[in-house]
Amino acid sequence: MQKSNLRAIFFDIDDTLYSTSEFSEVARSNALDAMIEHGLTMPKDELHLELQEVINEFSSNYEHHFDKLLLRIPRRYYKGVNPSILVAAGVVAYHETKVRQLAPYEDAVEVIRLLSKAGLILGVITEGMEVKQAEKLIRMRLVPFMSPNAIFISNQVGISKPNSKLYQRVCSDLNIKPTETMYVGDHPVHDIDPANSIGMITVRMRRGGKCQNMEGATLPALEVQNFWDLLDFLRAEFNIAV
Ligand SMILES: [Mg+2]
Repeated sequence: MQKSNLRAIFFDIDDTLYSTSEFSEVARSNALDAMIEHGLTMPKDELHLELQEVINEFSSNYEHHFDKLLLRIPRRYYKGVNPSILVAAGVVAYHETKVRQLAPYEDAVEVIRLLSKAGLILGVITEGMEVKQAEKLIRMRLVPFMSPNAIFISNQVGISKPNSKLYQRVCSDLNIKPTETMYVGDHPVHDIDPANSIGMITVRMRRGGKCQNMEGATLPALEVQNFWDLLDFLRAEFNIAV
């Protein structure tokens, strides 16, 4: 590929900057343990399957997964226990897992810290709810490295992935050309294809998560398994000297 002037790099959040799939699994498991500890007697593996169904049916952004879970299982499994106590036990355990374990990949922090000295615009383009996605950036302590006007959250923009208009909007808002803009994401269809379609330079982060074995319609400029490989590419192809 030809060397070009790179002005901005945007990152996806989930399963790109941190292992969302792994984190959610641990957080949900801790939540079910806490509910069991507070008197829920259904076997954990059955609860787990039921909770997965709730998430599939009501989306991962739905706020009342544990309430719905209790509505769906026979009452005998929490006879004599106030269901609100069980819900609260689950919610608290989930949030405590966030405090302890919602952390970015170490190499992501290191490389983004270096790149923040390269004179580039650094930002995110992420799918999800405003405060929920912003909370992840805060917890990961990545906000100081990002350009304040370069954080784009689909709900806030009003355009969702995989609509390429989301990526187009980012470029026009910052007055940058797609060809001078890189997007790093894990999802071949939500991240790579739409960003490719408007001419952005795409990098697929492939290090696990639900998209690991998925293929899109188009190929990224580069596929990497960690941020050090991304940095090598930036140094080699875009004269980034950090
Ligand atoms: Mg993702």
